Amino acid sequence: MANNLTFTMIKPDAVEAGNIGAITKMIEEAGFTIRAMKLTRLSKERAGQFYAVHKERPFYNDLCNYMSSGAIVPMILVKENAVEDFRKLIGATNPKEAAEGTIRKLFAKSIEANAIHGSDSDENAVIEGSFFFSETEKF
Ligand code: ATP
Ligand code: MG
Repeated sequence: MANNLTFTMIKPDAVEAGNIGAITKMIEEAGFTIRAMKLTRLSKERAGQFYAVHKERPFYNDLCNYMSSGAIVPMILVKENAVEDFRKLIGATNPKEAAEGTIRKLFAKSIEANAIHGSDSDENAVIEGSFFFSETEKF
């Protein structure tokens, strides 16, 4: 599978804090091209579908409530080695453990409200991108 595409979404805490511009600037300056982007919301049910892989985890219900609590900005990004490079740019899940200069270090509020999502594999990048964008919207 091609390794030049990833999926991200700016989460409700970062949208609410007015950080869409600062975060998209960092993404572009790191060499990613924004292929698709929109401002939207998830219902609790759709948030549950998106994070279904975590449904047995103790934080799942809170995570679904949080992810449906406000606007989000999903995006499809293009760059060579996109998935791995983007995970480096966003930093560790827990902002307390995130490296200096990463998006989560700069903007995340907590391990749950951690500002941004990044796909963890090429396969999931395609699945997650398709969750928000149709073929026509992507190109
Ligand atoms: P994401 O999938 O959003 O990019 P991630 O891959 O770094 O994040 P995951 O383990 O996939 O981390 O967890 C998904 C999301 O669930 C996290 O980004 C965070 O919002 C929330 N989460 C993860 N672990 C916890 C926890 N221990 N307590 C509360 N929320 C958590
Ligand atoms: Mg994940």
